[in-house]
Amino acid sequence: PIILAIESSCDDTSAAVLAGGQIRSNVVATQRVHEQYGGVVPELASRAHQQHLIPVVQEALRQAGVTKAELDAVAFTQGPGLLGSLLVGSMFAKTFALALGKPLLAVNHMRAHILAHFINEPRPTFPFLCLTVSGGHTQLVVVKSPPDMQVVGQTIDDAAGEAFDKTAKLLGLPYPGGPHLDKLASTGNPTRFPFPVGAMPGYDFSFSGLKTAVLYFLRQQTAKNPNFIQENLPDLCASIQHTIIQTLLRQLQRAAADLGLTQIALAGGVAANSGLRAALQNLAAEKGWAVFIPEFQYCTDNAAMVAMTAHFQFEAGDFAPQLVSPDPRLKLT
Ligand code: ATP
Ligand code: FE
Repeated sequence: PIILAIESSCDDTSAAVLAGGQIRSNVVATQRVHEQYGGVVPELASRAHQQHLIPVVQEALRQAGVTKAELDAVAFTQGPGLLGSLLVGSMFAKTFALALGKPLLAVNHMRAHILAHFINEPRPTFPFLCLTVSGGHTQLVVVKSPPDMQVVGQTIDDAAGEAFDKTAKLLGLPYPGGPHLDKLASTGNPTRFPFPVGAMPGYDFSFSGLKTAVLYFLRQQTAKNPNFIQENLPDLCASIQHTIIQTLLRQLQRAAADLGLTQIALAGGVAANSGLRAALQNLAAEKGWAVFIPEFQYCTDNAAMVAMTAHFQFEAGDFAPQLVSPDPRLKLT
């Protein structure tokens, strides 16, 4: 089938076209308006989606060389995400599908982050364990098949991306801080400042303790030396990043061992982190795991992953009624 997919869950407006299981185009308009506020402003995100969506869809169709009439279905992100942002994408998709007389596919954004692994080779084989690390989520998911997924662990407070962004903010780095912190960490000493690794039973995660520990540590040190942050920035970044990676990999390792899984996948925007990628590759070599990390453009929010998920749903006949509405808290299962 030829599918047009729309993604508008947070602050990226994206449209993609998939034909016969292959991505033909993936256009993303990233909203820069939020940078000055140090975080996503929901009201501004909705308005920006409203402005960008039609040109982004037109560009995706043009790049794919596909006409509206050739589409077999229209897919959109149903949730989780910001309600206003989801409403813009879902209303567009519903109206477009109705006008064209094509079926509608409602996609779960967190399933889409995972199924991004099926866009290109090499693909993991079922069952696999996926660590999804994004701006709003941190989940360990056992994936038995595209529809059969089970969350076995998740964060009880902040997501890994939030841990990066919030600690980066304490260091005075621009928003979103994750990529800046990653870059600075590459020249720092990761064991210079020991911060607490969030210890949780089972396979859950916790990052709020790290944020508090960094806050108090910086307050204490800058009281003695006002230039403490500037003088120690790479070591601070490397130490924070190291702690987040240890927190993630400890639970991943525990789950993989207990569940006997050796196909390990990484998903979400934090999968771009160079320290995490390197540490995971090292751990995999030691454990004999096969590790899968999608291309960067398919890790952060994009409509290609929504199109890929919609393709599996189309094959399974899992269409949505015109009454479908977005759900900001849509669960993975
Ligand atoms: P969700 O899917 O949970 O709704 P999201 O889609 O907004 O969240 P993503 O786009 O997947 O989140 O990821 C964005 C997050 O990834 C941000 O917190 C950002 O700081 C983080 N991030 C991106 N690159 C890096 C990096 N190199 N190192 C650390 N974090 C990074
Ligand atoms: Fe996302």
